[in-house]
Amino acid sequence: MAAILISGGTKMEILKIDHLGIAVNSIDDGKNFWSDVLGLEFEGAETVDAQKVTTAFFPVGESEVELLESTSPDGPVAKFIEKKGTGFQHVAFRVANIEEALAELKEKGIQLIDQEPRIGAGGAKIAFLHPKATGGVLVELCQRD
Ligand code: ZN
Repeated sequence: MAAILISGGTKMEILKIDHLGIAVNSIDDGKNFWSDVLGLEFEGAETVDAQKVTTAFFPVGESEVELLESTSPDGPVAKFIEKKGTGFQHVAFRVANIEEALAELKEKGIQLIDQEPRIGAGGAKIAFLHPKATGGVLVELCQRD
């Protein structure tokens, strides 16, 4: 992680780990552990139709846990679960300026899933990097104003 944050030729400003995304079959079931057992506060669920997903956020200090439940068998989260099972799905870094960060990554030849930012849960601007470019981890950048 230090290598990513402190490498010399990096202009983008990563502010913190915004959230960890966890793929679940059911947010209601997921709440049993994350909320009832661990005591994290459930902030409510939101469906993002364009991504065929319902998300639920649980704040943890400066970051959050995001549970992701697919709303359709052909959605990206359903496909992820089909391939890899439920569990850890992506890490999201909050950046100061997502357009600048994407431009810099393109310049460095990093394969992106989203060429341009789109609007995710909570109105954040988000974009995913391809796991092939990150050593197998799905990485999301997000900017919240
Ligand atoms: Zn996310």
